Amino acid sequence: MKIGLPKEIKVKENRVALTPGGVGTLVRRGHSVVVEHNAGVGSGIQDAEYVQAGATMGSAADAWAADMVVKVKEPIASEYGYLREDLLLFTYLHLAADRELTEALLKAGTTGVAYETVQETDGSLPLLSPMSEVAGRLSVQAGAYHLQKPVGGRGVLLGGVPGVQAGHVVIVGGGVVGTNAAKMAMGLGAKVTVLDVSHRRLTYLDDVFFGKLTTMMSSEANIRALLPETDLLVGAVLIPGAKAPHLVTRDMLPLMQEGSVIVDVAVDQGGCVETIHATTHDDPTYIVDGVIHYGVANMPGAVPRTSTFALTNQTLPYALQLAERGIDAVRRSKALALGLNTRAGKLTYKGVADALGLDY
Ligand code: NAD
Repeated sequence: MKIGLPKEIKVKENRVALTPGGVGTLVRRGHSVVVEHNAGVGSGIQDAEYVQAGATMGSAADAWAADMVVKVKEPIASEYGYLREDLLLFTYLHLAADRELTEALLKAGTTGVAYETVQETDGSLPLLSPMSEVAGRLSVQAGAYHLQKPVGGRGVLLGGVPGVQAGHVVIVGGGVVGTNAAKMAMGLGAKVTVLDVSHRRLTYLDDVFFGKLTTMMSSEANIRALLPETDLLVGAVLIPGAKAPHLVTRDMLPLMQEGSVIVDVAVDQGGCVETIHATTHDDPTYIVDGVIHYGVANMPGAVPRTSTFALTNQTLPYALQLAERGIDAVRRSKALALGLNTRAGKLTYKGVADALGLDY
């Protein structure tokens, strides 16, 4: 199969959907790969590395002319002209929030397989979790930085020093983001408390971290009790298919110390802190009631090189199945079948159809 790798053109998107290693694997399996010039530069990958791996370099139109196009972000309006009926598009699509793109894909008849809905039989979302791992780890790094006095923070070093208390990191939600945040915070030497509503998750965290962190059932009373001694609060809650619940409400902010920090990773689902709103890497924080709020909605964008490798580690096995078998791969794999969002002018994912009020 001929596979195209266009450069991402969405503002501030520096990731790329295949590494030279991934290109090499596809080429060795007998496929050809056309890479758009400079597709990898944002992730520190040069054209010469793709050529060495066996790719042909070309224009955006050359890459989009392939049988299958592999991307990171959903096509933006200037790319809609490349959509066509015999195109297999494998990328993040997030169609439930994008009627315009959904209509463009349906009109063109493009087969769209969305990373975010590929789901294994155990319920896991293998193409979402690498970005949650990145965001979880980054949340503590960002929080530790903003706790420093020169940038407006409380002036607390999360790890403390001998003879001085460590900072307290409270993580609400103990899933992929929360677990990775906990690992980073413990690595820095902070005191860590994780709250979740899932007893199974709390048991797991207690087991794997062997009592080095405190687990608590997530409840309003427990959150209120923790806030006065929280230096960094990480929001990491997810209720699949729904907006995040507001677990820290506006009236609770005065319970926190001035200069303490909230990093609400769940901001992309509305946030689990009532006062959070989406911010950007250029201007990541703002202050409400003396508490620093960090609400960057695309945190992995800060570390595109790591994010590119983390994402492509997970996408490549699925891209290979699609390259070998085309649409037949979707019939053979339950995970890929759940990834199929559009096909021959029809919506094939119920959640998207429900969200947009379209036929399924
Ligand atoms: P996950 O499903 O692995 O974990 C979510 C956890 O929240 C689960 O353990 C669940 O039991 C728990 N939970 C549900 N209701 C709760 C409540 N009331 N109190 C406490 N815990 C509760 O999800 P994840 O992959 O860790 O993602 C978490 C959030 O981070 C999602 O909203 C995701 O979209 C977001 N995210 C944001 C970025 C970013 O750049 N901002 C990047 C990646 C992920």
